[in-house]
Order: sequence, then C-alpha cells, then structure tokens
Amino acid sequence: MKRKLRIAFSLGLIVLICDAIVPFVLAERVTQKHDIANKIEADVHRLNYLLSAYKDTETGERGFMLSGSAEYLEPYVSGRHAIEALLPQIGKSLTTDLAQPAEYRGLLELDRQAVQYQREQIDTRRVGKTTGAEDYKRGKAIMDAIRIKVGAITQRADRLAAAANTSAAALEERSRWLTVAVTIVDVLLFSAAFGFAMRLLHSEEYAGRVAELANEHLLAEGTLRYEAMRKLEAHAHKLNQIIEMQMALSQTTSHLEDFVALVVERMLLLSSASGAVVEMVEGDEVVYLAASGTAADFIGLRMPRASSLSGMSIAEKKVMISQDIASDPRVNHAAAVKIGAAAVVVAPLLRRGEAVGVLKIFSNMTDGFDESDVQTVQLVAGLLGAALADRLAFETNTALLEERTCALAALGQQQQLLRSITDGIPALVAFIDGDERYQYTNKHYLEMLGKDPLGETIRGSVSEERYEILKEHIDMALSGRAAEFEYRLQTMDGLRYTQIHFIPQFDGDGRTVNGFCVLAWDVHTRKEQEMKWQSRALVDQLTGAHNRFSFVDAVGQALARQHQADNGGKLAVFYLDIDHFKSINDTLGHAAGDSVLSAFAGALKSAIRASDILGRIGGDEFCILLENVGSLDNTRRIADKVLEHVRALGSKRDLPLITTSLGIAFVEGGAMDAAEVIELADAALYEAKQAGRNRHAERSVSTA
Ligand code: GH3
Ligand code: MG
Repeated sequence: MKRKLRIAFSLGLIVLICDAIVPFVLAERVTQKHDIANKIEADVHRLNYLLSAYKDTETGERGFMLSGSAEYLEPYVSGRHAIEALLPQIGKSLTTDLAQPAEYRGLLELDRQAVQYQREQIDTRRVGKTTGAEDYKRGKAIMDAIRIKVGAITQRADRLAAAANTSAAALEERSRWLTVAVTIVDVLLFSAAFGFAMRLLHSEEYAGRVAELANEHLLAEGTLRYEAMRKLEAHAHKLNQIIEMQMALSQTTSHLEDFVALVVERMLLLSSASGAVVEMVEGDEVVYLAASGTAADFIGLRMPRASSLSGMSIAEKKVMISQDIASDPRVNHAAAVKIGAAAVVVAPLLRRGEAVGVLKIFSNMTDGFDESDVQTVQLVAGLLGAALADRLAFETNTALLEERTCALAALGQQQQLLRSITDGIPALVAFIDGDERYQYTNKHYLEMLGKDPLGETIRGSVSEERYEILKEHIDMALSGRAAEFEYRLQTMDGLRYTQIHFIPQFDGDGRTVNGFCVLAWDVHTRKEQEMKWQSRALVDQLTGAHNRFSFVDAVGQALARQHQADNGGKLAVFYLDIDHFKSINDTLGHAAGDSVLSAFAGALKSAIRASDILGRIGGDEFCILLENVGSLDNTRRIADKVLEHVRALGSKRDLPLITTSLGIAFVEGGAMDAAEVIELADAALYEAKQAGRNRHAERSVSTA
C-alpha cells in the first residue's frame, strides 16, 4: 500500500515539475531569439545612421564629397565626428554578433586614411596650395571604399536579423504546441492520481484502520484534556478561596488572635487537613496561638523548639513535611499524639526575613497530604506572614501614633500657653539654640523689627558690626552665664535703646547649654530722659564745661589713677577767675557778661589738650585739670598760654578786653583728695590776684 502511495506521489511530483519548468524554459528560449534579432536590428539601424553621415550633399549618394575647397569641408568634419563616435559602439556589437573583426578593422583603416587626407588638405589650403581634381579623385576613392564596406556589413546584418526573427517565430510556434501537449499530460496524470486516491479511500480495510487510529488518538487526547481541566478547576477553586480569605484577612479589624483564628479555620476548607495550628515563637518555645479541627482545644500549648518539626521549620525557614509522623524522629511525638496527627506540613511565617512562627496543618492519616496541600500551606503562610507583619506594624504604629498625638497635644497646649504668656509680655522674647539660630520668637519681634527672624541665625539677621557687639554676650550665654547689656536695636522706628538679657538654657543633665532665652525691653524713653538729666547734672549749660560736681569727680578719678601708677604721674589743676568781671556786668549788662563767660570758656578750651578737662566752678571761676602734665616748668608754660589766649579774646571778637588770674596746684604722687587739690589751686589764685591780676601763681605738692 505504501509503495503505491509513493509511486503516485512521485508521478504527481514529476507532473508538477514539468508543468512549472517546460513552459518557462521555452519562453526563455523565445525571448533569447527575439533579443538577438532586436540587437541585430539595432546594429543595422546604427549602420544606416553611419552611412547617412557619409551622404554626399551634392549627389545624394552615401559617402563624402571630398575636394580642396572649403565649402565641402564642413559636412566632412561633422561626418568624421559621427563616424568616430559611432564606430566603437557598432564595432562592439558587430564583433560579437554580426561582422568579422577583420572586416571591421578594414573599415576603421579606411576612415583613418580619410582623416589623414583631410588634414593634408587643410594644411595645403593654409599655405595657399590646392590640388584640385587629383584630390577629389583620391578622396572619392577612399569614400567609395568605405561605402562598399559599410554597405556589405549592412546587408549581412539585415540577413542575420531576418534569420533571427524567423528562428524566434518558429520557436514560439513550437513552444505553443509543447504547452498544449504538457497540459494534456497534466490532466491525464491528475485524473489517474485522483482515481487511485479514491480507490485507496474506499478500501474498507484502510478506512477501518484509519478510523481506529483516529479514535485512539482522540480518546487519549480527550482524557488528558479532561484531567487537566479538572485539575485546573480544582486549583482555581482553591485559589479563589485563598483570595477570599486574604480579602477577609485584610478587612478584619479585630485583634491578632481573631485574625489568626480565621486563618486556621479556613485551612480546614482549603486542604485535606483534619486540623491546623498557628504557632508563635516565644524564646526557646513555640506557643499555639490559634488552632482548629482536632487541635482546637490546645490553644496556649507550649513546645520546646529544639525537638519539633516546627522548630526546624523556623530555624531553616523552610517548609517541612512528614507524611508518617510515627516513624519520623524529627517530630515531637507527644504533641502529635495530643492533637491526633499522623501526617503534618509545617511552613514558616516570615516577617521581614525572620521566622516568627509557623502555620501547620496535620492529618489523622499517614500520607494524608498531596503536593497541592503543601502548596496551599506555603501560599497561606506567605500571606499570613505578610499580613502579620502589617498587622503588628499597624498595631505598633497606632499605639505610637496615639502616644505621639497625646504628647503633641500636650506640647501644643504648652506652646500655646507659652505663646500667650510671651506675647503678653511687652518685650522681645526669643529662644536661640546652640547654633545661634532663632527657634522661638514672640509676636513683638514682627511688630518692632518689621520682620520675624524665626529660623534665621543672629549673624544672618544683623549687620556684621552689630553682630560683633552681640557676639561677646552670645558667647557668654552659650558658656552658661547670664548676660545683661544695653543695646541700640534697629527697629522700624530707627535705633532704640534696649535692655537685653541672655539667659542660658540647660539640657536635662543641667550642665550642657542648649541655647539661651532672650528678653529685650525697650528702654529708649527712659534712657533718653536719663541722658538728658545726666548731661544736665554734669555740664554747665552756659559754657558746656563740666560743672563743679563732675569736675571734682574727674579730679578725684585722676588722682586715683595717678596714685596707682607705678611711676607716680604728675597732674596740675588751674583755678581761674576773670579779673574785674563785675564791672563788665555793670557796664555792658548781664547778657554781655554771659557772652564773655562763654567766650572765656572757649578761649580756655583752645589753649588746652582735648584730654584736659575744663570745669566751671561758679560765677566767673573756672578750673582746668591737666593729667600727665610732665614738669612744673611745662605747667607754667601752659598757664602762660592760657593767659595769652584770654587776652587775645578782646582783639579777635567784639568783646571787651579781659584778663584772668590763674592759680596752679602742681601735684606729684596723688595721695590727696580732689577738694584739697582744688583748694590749693584756689590759694595760688588768691596770690595771683594779690600780686596784681593777669598772671599766674603756683602751689606745688608732692606725696610720692
Ligand atoms: P576780681 O578781679 O576780684 O575777681 O573782681 P570781680 O569783679 O571779678 O569780682 P568777683 O569775681 O567777686 O565777681 C564775680 C561776679 O560775677 C559777681 C556776679 O555778679 C557775676 N556773675 C556770677 N555769675 C554770673 C553769671 O552767670 N552771669 C553774669 N553775667 N555774671 C555773673
Ligand atoms: Mg572775678
């Protein structure tokens, strides 16, 4: 049977090949013949064109009319170019298809002669010689020869083209017949093959066999498919249940115990287990946190980890299976007997990579579990581990959140209280941390400064110069000592005097300073008042000189300094009284007297150093304190200078001429009080007055 089939197949194949190849080969041959004919025709066409270039313009004959005269030169030249351009092309095809090489070479040679001849003609013409009829004859002979050659080639080409076309036509005819013949054979062969195939199909024996084979195959395939489908359905059902359980787990808001209890109950449905347990690690033991089935009564049961399959599963973080507990040394047999387990599957509960317990299913039959049970336990343990982690984290976080919320609320209350207190204080209140950054500011900062420096550093909120002033106090506060100072604060209303307190704040240990509190009071108004009062109290209003009180104080301080100095400095006090001042008042009036007093003070100041102190002791009496005055001689020179400046007043201004008497107290050592020194100067003044005024007298004392 098989052999016959092979024969039929081979025949069919041959028919197909013939069918495909024969017409193709024939068509190729016809095309080739046509190509040859076309090529020859093209060559003939080119030759005809070539000959037309030789056409004699006078006679109409093909060829050239060559003579010595210039008017026949042009057609020749153009003709020659045409030959030169065409000959190589024609030569190519003539050489291969049409003409003999020798024949063509002859043609080229003739043309070369024609060119040479023509050149000679041109040269001769240039030198004024013509050769006339002789030239014509020679040219004509060359051209005739060319014409004959080309004519012969053309004729041959025509013949060849005609032959090729005839041959192509004949072949085409043959090819048509052959195609008809092949088609007939095709039909015959196909009908034979078809008949043969039909017979085969109708053979009962064969048909039976085929049906049998097909049935066998279909049956096997069907059974397999059915099995696979059943498994798939079972699997899908289980997966659905697991998904449902996971959803239930994720939705349950109950405590951990209830949550785990749900899992062990569901395990009874999901596997062929007769009980399920969730055990949690507690030190070296595992404790039954939840149990179902025949283990349901044993919640709280403890087992040492060391001698149990659960302990092993926890240690190795792997699923452990025992299909026959009785003969398995890894299992804690006492516990197994209690819960009635003959086979067990244990999967670890992993929380962040750590085994915190196990999910265990057991069966009361040996070999009670199949592969799908193991997979289920593994899957549920994975879910439970993750859910457990979430749940624990959630519970811990909730507790933490509650704690923090309470703490924050308390803190918030405290802060609110702090704010209401500090905002109520009419002062700037702030807390500055160890990095000199404002961590707290009360509302007056914004009100007074126009900006709240909260979050900024002190350095960043003031100019570099001002920071330098503050730095000393900041360092003091951060070293744990309170600082108090007066500071001119740049406010929205300009610079204002403030009284600032830096109060260091310590950590819980009472030693480490974590920052300092700032309390700054506006003392501007009081300060201004005070300054006004102070200046009034110390300065003579008319002359701007120190008053008696402040002058005496200044002398006292100078004496103390002198007394402390190692080298025992020298100082002098001048006591001056305007001569006959009363008469100025009397003659010019009291106001003029005042002007004289003022001008007198000015003259004194101009005669002394800036560091010397001028005081108005009363009426027309003034004193001058000269510290580090050097020698007595030097002191006298200064006294002379003072007298001179006073005398000069009258000449410079619109003032009466005045003089003064001057008493000098020259003191070395300084172990005296101010009043004594001033008295001494007064005594010297008296002497000067007595001696006739406008002069100085002196008293000198040394306590060194
Ligand atoms: P002497 O040369 O002895 O010093 O003669 P004198 O006239 O200057 O006498 P004395 O120094 O005793 O007189 C001081 C006068 O200065 C008395 C007083 O009327 C006048 N006097 C005191 N205080 C003021 C003042 O503030 N303004 C004016 N214009 N006169 C004053
Ligand atoms: Mg006087």
